[in-house]
Amino acid sequence: MNAATETRFELEVAAVTDVGTERENNEDQCGHVLESESCGLLVVADGVSSAEAGEMASQTAVAATLRTFSEQPPGTPTAKRLYRAVQQANIEIYDLATVVPELRGMTTTLTAVVVDRGELTAAHIGDSRLYLCRDGRLVQLTKDHTVAGEKSRMGLMSKSRARAHPDRSVLTRSLGRELIVPIDRISNRLYRGDTLLVCSDGLYNTLGDEEMTPLLLQGDDAMGACLRLVDTANRRGTLDNLTAAVLRVVEGPERPAAAAGLGARLRGLFGRRDG
Ligand code: MG
Repeated sequence: MNAATETRFELEVAAVTDVGTERENNEDQCGHVLESESCGLLVVADGVSSAEAGEMASQTAVAATLRTFSEQPPGTPTAKRLYRAVQQANIEIYDLATVVPELRGMTTTLTAVVVDRGELTAAHIGDSRLYLCRDGRLVQLTKDHTVAGEKSRMGLMSKSRARAHPDRSVLTRSLGRELIVPIDRISNRLYRGDTLLVCSDGLYNTLGDEEMTPLLLQGDDAMGACLRLVDTANRRGTLDNLTAAVLRVVEGPERPAAAAGLGARLRGLFGRRDG
């Protein structure tokens, strides 16, 4: 316990959103907060609407999440602060969409991630993504709540077909559509050198995982990584809005060698079973 409390933490956070090259308005929204050296929050939302209310949905989602997270009484566990914040964002979008005729049907994706003393907690709905980059490998921690994503997880469609499918952006779940919404909860342990990327589909559909990895790891600052990702996608030309939010664990606990060894042993075990 003593060793854990003595660990020094340093996080770096940044977020960039951009309209892209083909759209007139930006329905993506993002936010970040560094509460202390050891606690940081990233939020990305991608609004959806037949009219222009998508912008309002994503702005409300990010603003309500950041506000409610910061307003929780002292001593509230971090994960609880995050889940309450996302539920509150859902209610605020739902209420606006119900009361204001112009905003009817607006909804949004939301991926909100907090890292507190090395503990990652995420709340996720929709098809924005959270990736963890560790040892140069990018791993998607969230599931895409899309028609194509669900089919791919059920084994009805290959991952490569799902990526190109016309329904790849049709959401099966989103924020503000219902008063009560099931939200995916993700938790993980982070170590020094880990990097998180939260991004909207405009970014990952333009660049792909393989291309995002080196752009994320070049240089050593979070803002530089966000700008490189967005600029590279823009140079290619993109039909969608772009958002990248990055959190770097600059200082934190070293990843235990034993845990890495256990992971390798388990992979070996499952590999043998599959074969
Ligand atoms: Mg999008």
